Amino acid sequence: MKYRYCYICGTETVSKKIDGRKRSYCESCGIPLYENPIPSVAVVLTEPDQRILLVRRSVEPGIGEWCLPGGFIEIGETPSQAAVRELKEEIGIEIEPPQLLSVGSHLNGYYGDVLIIGFSADINPDDPLVPGDDVSEAVFFPVNERPRMIFRVHEEFVELWQRRNE
Ligand SMILES: [Zn+2]
Repeated sequence: MKYRYCYICGTETVSKKIDGRKRSYCESCGIPLYENPIPSVAVVLTEPDQRILLVRRSVEPGIGEWCLPGGFIEIGETPSQAAVRELKEEIGIEIEPPQLLSVGSHLNGYYGDVLIIGFSADINPDDPLVPGDDVSEAVFFPVNERPRMIFRVHEEFVELWQRRNE
């Protein structure tokens, strides 16, 4: 159970079985404290020669490993806005609003369960890439010669993009 204390009133929670599952329950507020996956975005960025842009992570989880650029959606953002912001922060480029590709999950990870909204977008290979704090490198790879990525769901997004663009 994630919540030892109620995030509304601060009272210590109790464990209570509700709807067949043990949940944190606040007896003061009289409500279960539901746990939900964290929404995030990932972007399959490709240039006209079908090369894909991957980033090498400089933070946990998966430090030193490759993955798609992306990150968590912040309060007040749409998923599309989060994707645009994350690309600006991680690799220093501005993209047009991306296309929805698919939705997947990463379960029991470093941050718990994460819901990942996958987008695709075009990138100009001549745009200068400026890796931000969360990544050590941003590199174009021919899509069939890319390194293995740390998140299975990112692989699934790329495989889906490939099937649609063959
Ligand atoms: Zn409470």
